Amino acid sequence: MINRKYRIILALSFSQMLVACQGETAQEVTESIPAQSPQVTQPSEATQKLLERNKMFDERINEVSENVFVATGYTVSANSMIVGTDGVIIVDPGNQFSTKLAEAFRKISAKPVKAIIYTHGHADHTGGTPAFYTPDQGIQIWQRDNYNSEARANQVTGITRGARASNTQGFDLRPEQKFGVGVAIPPEITPGGMMVDGLTNKPEVTAPRQRVQPIPPTHTFSGERESIEIAGVKIEMVKAPGETDDQLYVWLPDSKVLFAGDNFYQSWPNTYPLRGTARRSVRDWVSSLSKMVDESPEILVGGHTTPITEGATEVLTNYRDALKWVYDRTIEGATKYMTPDELVAYAALPPHLADLDYLQNYYGSVWGTVRDIYAQDLGWFDGAVLNLHRESPQAQAQRLVDLVGGLDSLKNKARAALTSGDTLGAAQLTNAILALEADNQEFNLLMADALAIIGEATFNAPARNFTLSSSNRYRNKADTTAAP
Ligand SMILES: [Zn+2]
Repeated sequence: MINRKYRIILALSFSQMLVACQGETAQEVTESIPAQSPQVTQPSEATQKLLERNKMFDERINEVSENVFVATGYTVSANSMIVGTDGVIIVDPGNQFSTKLAEAFRKISAKPVKAIIYTHGHADHTGGTPAFYTPDQGIQIWQRDNYNSEARANQVTGITRGARASNTQGFDLRPEQKFGVGVAIPPEITPGGMMVDGLTNKPEVTAPRQRVQPIPPTHTFSGERESIEIAGVKIEMVKAPGETDDQLYVWLPDSKVLFAGDNFYQSWPNTYPLRGTARRSVRDWVSSLSKMVDESPEILVGGHTTPITEGATEVLTNYRDALKWVYDRTIEGATKYMTPDELVAYAALPPHLADLDYLQNYYGSVWGTVRDIYAQDLGWFDGAVLNLHRESPQAQAQRLVDLVGGLDSLKNKARAALTSGDTLGAAQLTNAILALEADNQEFNLLMADALAIIGEATFNAPARNFTLSSSNRYRNKADTTAAP
């Protein structure tokens, strides 16, 4: 009984939510929902904002400056072509799905590819090279001499592969749960919510995905700045560690276009990916943004999302100021014994930055960055003395049970919390119950329902994906466990 009214939300498909958001046939949608669940007749504000954002990822090519073309929506990253006198230069050729992109670029210019520049080594920016590259034609592929540093660091642990990475990207979700990652719609997800690569609907698909082997650079540089001229185009590549250590930005001094790589996109920066990765230095990121501000660009091309064609320097300045603000407040608060949980509020953005759309938590999150800065520069101990004397989850749960007068009492409180709409409270109490009775079918189901509601209302896309994946995992477990 407790589950029925909540599970209805999972029956709302992506397209139904889109319809509900647009208000066109809201009646049609509400009719399919039982009268006792008015709280889920409309998608949450978070869902509506993510749906609105996803319109940005329709396929388009913008000529942002004379002979500079930026494609969005063809691959998960933004991909650019600079047309010179006798050839073209590609900045970030995309991923393994770049064939269509290459055809679209060739319709604009049939001149041969002379050079390819990787802003960093991530496969969604480098994997598309085969669509543009012909061996033995003297095509230059440029990057810094620490190319692919993050992948090499991650190889030590292997943590970025498998379920956790897949869960945060949303690959394991059911079609109606898939909304992308806030700065892109992965190829497995179309705006209709359908998967196109044959991935199954099972909640725990963890099979390794086929990865392309990008073609490594033919040319690298080790210094601060490398200036080259290709097809008559003056190009500067500048060292810019941030989202990855191997990051560079590309600067066209004549047209004042700056390609920022993943040190900028229209979202709060992903200073720490929830999938887990090697350290991304926030201090370096701020310094690199300052270098970009100093170029005074007129056009700003991010590594994802559509380019900024007006007020580029102001946007970059705000981006840098916001990240620096959060860094400075976090460190300052930490010296006052504030814990990361307290610092999230203390480091909140000031009003003149807080409402800017390109600083919202679509992909990265301010709350995640605060915790990451703390972990980067102070480590795991948050200064709260009892965290030096922690008990196991079972021992903590037992204290709670004793406090409320027994396990049955705690179960009643968890049920009541969900019924009253306190879904986070219900999840917290259920977490304690499952610490003591991991296979309890009713409470695995209750946890699944609570997390489904919490996830649907979560705006940060990776956190939303992970929460919904977790909900599916509990539901799957409930389906395979007998009632006690
Ligand atoms: Zn990227």
